[in-house]
Amino acid sequence: MPKTLFKALIVGVFLIASNISFAKPPVLLTNSELKQVESVREQALNSNLSYEILESLTTEVGPRMAGTPQDTLAVKWAVKKFKALGFDKVWTEPVTYTTWKRGVETAQVVSPFPQPLHITALGGSVSTDSVFTSSVSSDKDGLTAKVIHFLNLDALKAANPSQVKGKIVFVSNRMERSINGMGYGKAVALRRNGAIEAAKKGALAIIIRSVGTDTHRVPHTGLMKYQDDTQKIPAAALSNPDADQLVRIFKRNKDVSIKLNIGAKPAGEFTSHNVIGEITGSTAPNEYIVMGGHLDSWDLGTGAVDDGAGVALTMAAATLIKNSGIKHRRAIRVVLWANEEQGLKGAKAYADAHTKDLEQHIIGAESDFGAGRIYQFSSLVTDKDIPFMDQMAKMLAPLGIERGDNKAGPGPDLIPLYKKGMSVFRLSQDGTDYFDLHHTADDTLDKVNPEALAQNVAAYTVYALMTAQYQSDLARPKEESKNEH
Ligand SMILES: [Zn+2]
Repeated sequence: MPKTLFKALIVGVFLIASNISFAKPPVLLTNSELKQVESVREQALNSNLSYEILESLTTEVGPRMAGTPQDTLAVKWAVKKFKALGFDKVWTEPVTYTTWKRGVETAQVVSPFPQPLHITALGGSVSTDSVFTSSVSSDKDGLTAKVIHFLNLDALKAANPSQVKGKIVFVSNRMERSINGMGYGKAVALRRNGAIEAAKKGALAIIIRSVGTDTHRVPHTGLMKYQDDTQKIPAAALSNPDADQLVRIFKRNKDVSIKLNIGAKPAGEFTSHNVIGEITGSTAPNEYIVMGGHLDSWDLGTGAVDDGAGVALTMAAATLIKNSGIKHRRAIRVVLWANEEQGLKGAKAYADAHTKDLEQHIIGAESDFGAGRIYQFSSLVTDKDIPFMDQMAKMLAPLGIERGDNKAGPGPDLIPLYKKGMSVFRLSQDGTDYFDLHHTADDTLDKVNPEALAQNVAAYTVYALMTAQYQSDLARPKEESKNEH
């Protein structure tokens, strides 16, 4: 063979080879790596660790509303727990926000059928004191006024202001139950914006049917909003049975008066912390696989399902991976977010504090939908990583988790990182009963099924270990990122 032809052949083979390697998809996990994933998954299924962590948090700290002394206690608890669990790095990052204090909260029907009602103030509500005027019958312990009933937020928006002015607005819209909580998005608009819409029409206060699916006499709190150009009026939620009762009263007689006493008020600035625990990566320690839940809760229950479960199960998942001794490439970072409930304060602070290493946050998953079994997963990756998601599907299938779509959205605390381009992974929990408990005094440890919690942990070990081992950027589909920027 002439030398030049030989050279050309060599060059040609080299070019083909380099082209092939260029087009080659990322290397999938090996069989032995998959065996390791299976082994940690099975250990997680048989471990009580997440339940023990949750028991510790809900017993030793209890409710942890942002800005309360238990907010600070929860941060201390988390630092101590991460260290006791053997995380390689544990640190806190400050988060500052304005806070709100709950006060007295009572309501009663004054006429036509006098009787007490079970209510709770919505998060951020002003007190009834703040709307005392000479035009309404009021005294130091509440505000008494006529009530106008609307079936939903749209009916309130369409109302003639002359019908609403000087009255307490009551909206009786009921949230629908579903496995994925889709009824919440629809119903929660009333909780968030009801006070603004009622104030625009001159209402003195608003009481809504709780955004919840239970039939217990426990009202559901949750964040509400005001608007700068409208009057701030008190806002409260009635338990579902009380809302039903009020509807029945209206059916008999539309001339209903209620006495409402809300003592809630703003409580100044407060600094809390995101608490972060990390298991170091072996060969890519500056690339992070993110998971976590929010450390704060509302004050009525002990925040076992919202979101003690998310905190406990992600802490446990990372611990079980660490204890397995497997050398995973990337770091596994558990972030316990501060003050999610009153506006994603910890999540926003984290995204702002990490603008420089944002691209090192490879992918994130948040558990913030209770403690029900996970039934489905979804991803947000490009074509090159679909074969990896096939592997993921095989590892999750024995847990009863089916494959969803490739359009995963972020959990609430991942929204700021997602908006800056991070990919997300979603493990969808069965939330059929979640809104029976959500933001109520009934959100307590006894509602958590330890076996379901362990199944969650097992799924998070699969997610974290597999993405920590996989040698791909796991980038999001381009169009998706563009839309978000
Ligand atoms: Zn939550």
